[in-house]
Amino acid sequence: MIEDEKDIVELVRYNFRKEGFDVASFASGREGLEELHRSPPDLVLLDIMLPDVDGFEICKRLRAEEKLRSLPVIFLTAKGEELDRILGLEIGADDYVVKPFSPRELVARVKAVLRRQARPAEKREVIDVQGLHLDARTQEVTVRGETIDLSTLEFKLLHFLASHPRRIFSRERLLDDVWGRDRFVTPRTVDVHIRRLREKIEAQADKPQYIQTVRGAGYRFTAEAEGDDDS
Ligand code: CA
Repeated sequence: MIEDEKDIVELVRYNFRKEGFDVASFASGREGLEELHRSPPDLVLLDIMLPDVDGFEICKRLRAEEKLRSLPVIFLTAKGEELDRILGLEIGADDYVVKPFSPRELVARVKAVLRRQARPAEKREVIDVQGLHLDARTQEVTVRGETIDLSTLEFKLLHFLASHPRRIFSRERLLDDVWGRDRFVTPRTVDVHIRRLREKIEAQADKPQYIQTVRGAGYRFTAEAEGDDDS
């Protein structure tokens, strides 16, 4: 945990230890970053307003490093404007909790993120989520038992989103990860493909069950994989 408010550190430490977690805490961004490099934990709880390097910057640095890129991050944020920044920024947090939070809720969120991490869908060839079946080996997709015809790009986009349930991706990020670096397309292209995907997989394209628009931020896959009961 990187957090400079002592009361919160104590609250989190007490509640997580009770649940069998080891908690190490650092009151400054610089110290926290050093420790993350020295000995990466299973997950980071990250405050935003810190005395030196702020939480956004820390998260950005983690995401830029091969070794720490997939380290789960949950932001602990004060009420108000920070929420917009978390959703709007290109920072790749796994979740966030608004202060004051209930320790039980935070423990539940941490467990949920760790569960998802333990079963990285990214490497899974077959994904089954709430009536949607994807097979990366054959690019076959069925929705509610019906086979759906997707282009290679549509399949890639859907597979990428479904591999990271609940995580919000900006259009830019999707262009990088799905279209690749050598692309001559604009963020609008993402919207067009999302619309086509929805027409093919959603029962009602205007009330999407799978791909949700997060206003001002991008898109996320909302249906939970089996066993994830944390929504
Ligand atoms: Ca703070």
